[in-house]
Amino acid sequence: MTAVGIDLGTSNSAVAVLDADGRPRILTSAAGLTTTPSVVWFADDGIHVGEAALPGLERAPEQTIFAAKRLLGRPIDDPVVRQLSKVLPYALVASPAGATVIALGDGRRVTPEEVAALVLGELRAQAERALGTAVTEAVITVPAWFDSAQRQATKDAAAIAGLEVRRLLSEPTAAALGHGAHRGQDARLVVCDLGGGTFDVSVVDVDGGVFEVLATTGDPFLGGDDVDRAAVELLAREVRERLGVDVTTDATAIDRLRLAAQRAKHELSLAPSTELRAADLATLPSGRPLDFVRRIQRAELDAWAAPLLRRLERPCRDALERAGRAAGAGVDQVLLVCGMTRMPAVATTLERIFGRTPESVANPDEVVAIGAAIEVARLAGDIGGVLLLDVCARGFALSVADGPCDPLIAAGARVPTREQRLVTTTGHGQRRLEFDLWEGEGEQAGARRHLARYAVTDLPEAPAGEVLVIVEVTVDVDGAVRVGATELVSGQRPPLEVVLQAGLGPGEVERLRAQRGVTADAP
Ligand code: ADP
Ligand code: MG
Repeated sequence: MTAVGIDLGTSNSAVAVLDADGRPRILTSAAGLTTTPSVVWFADDGIHVGEAALPGLERAPEQTIFAAKRLLGRPIDDPVVRQLSKVLPYALVASPAGATVIALGDGRRVTPEEVAALVLGELRAQAERALGTAVTEAVITVPAWFDSAQRQATKDAAAIAGLEVRRLLSEPTAAALGHGAHRGQDARLVVCDLGGGTFDVSVVDVDGGVFEVLATTGDPFLGGDDVDRAAVELLAREVRERLGVDVTTDATAIDRLRLAAQRAKHELSLAPSTELRAADLATLPSGRPLDFVRRIQRAELDAWAAPLLRRLERPCRDALERAGRAAGAGVDQVLLVCGMTRMPAVATTLERIFGRTPESVANPDEVVAIGAAIEVARLAGDIGGVLLLDVCARGFALSVADGPCDPLIAAGARVPTREQRLVTTTGHGQRRLEFDLWEGEGEQAGARRHLARYAVTDLPEAPAGEVLVIVEVTVDVDGAVRVGATELVSGQRPPLEVVLQAGLGPGEVERLRAQRGVTADAP
């Protein structure tokens, strides 16, 4: 019964353990890579996950799912989903309950949970291969701002993959742990996480072994992919001007240009200039392939990325303000996490904003998974004196029979937490009582998200108002909610029916788990 730490990333994921001597170890893929692309290709000959799915991005874009984490636990009418549906090469449709479902080009439908489960399953297999033993439990990291539905969806994905979640851990806390903050002095940290498509910034305090995320903000549409896209646009224009060929309508050519730009971006993190090479962008009238080769300077890329880098500032200032911290004196350390923070211009931009030279994390791609592995050890009691505090990203409210929302748990409340409300029947002999659970705050329409409708049934027959039911809402340490009801007069727990639910229900998770043939056997 081995447990591992997993960084389930938007673009790339990683899995780690602590060895017997307490040293963290990334469990590499069969190809020896430390990270695994969070990509799944539903091909005609089977399902390919990770590195093996990458060819699908070019060959079968409508069958190849990337960035499913951005859809996880979000309803179809979520602003982020609406925005993504305009740019993703695959289609998004609604489930009967309004959840987001992916419609593949061949007509198959898959949920974001299933895609995440396939990535988790690949990491699990990778870990089992590296360790030579069955892996059935994991600490999985999630963004600090993930709401309860996103956290539940992550847990459901793990269950489908045959992994029991020992804890969902906030990514900035994991990064701080992975960086060794639990072994150092007290510190006021800022964790900046710039990945492929998203930017998260969190203010984390470490005080006497207690880790607390004080504030977290970000930009869900800012990441390395945007830098690549900006570069491709400029390069495509250059190809037209210099070579007289318009490649903008050719998806294959654009993809090759994107890969070339991305490769150059990575090289420019180390060298001040490099060669950008994109082969076979088009067929020339002579029948020969058009290759595009040019030298590129770091300063050029920086200029292309400048409008994007300027967008880092706002969320950083917001995070400091919400945490009541000033740049400079209010910050002891700035940690940079994720691949994109390797770009020197990103580090200098963040340095300017925070008035602190960022601490170089030795392994920005691995530090979150290592933090998760440390949490596995902490939960097992192998690491003492560390306490991780997490809070509800959003609040919860109840409403009864289409009545007004009654706030129950506030955003920022420490988890685990539990609140109760007394509700009564309004009709004579009423034996069924319905209520709704909402997440979020604010009175405007759309400010709250409907999580579920419940019905308490089999209530005793009595005059209106005489049947008293205590509804209890619990948010567990992972940020997932549970609801219970007790009838006061008898003290019984009457049957509680889930009439409607945002995510996958337990039955659906079981069905998908069986369908994937998940077992907990050793390899
Ligand atoms: P996520 O956490 O969202 O899964 P990653 O940490 O894998 O994301 O970051 C992916 C982004 O980092 C991509 O845009 C990738 O091009 C970029 N990246 C990776 N390595 C480097 C590097 N050496 N220099 C610049 N950017 C990099
Ligand atoms: Mg990452």
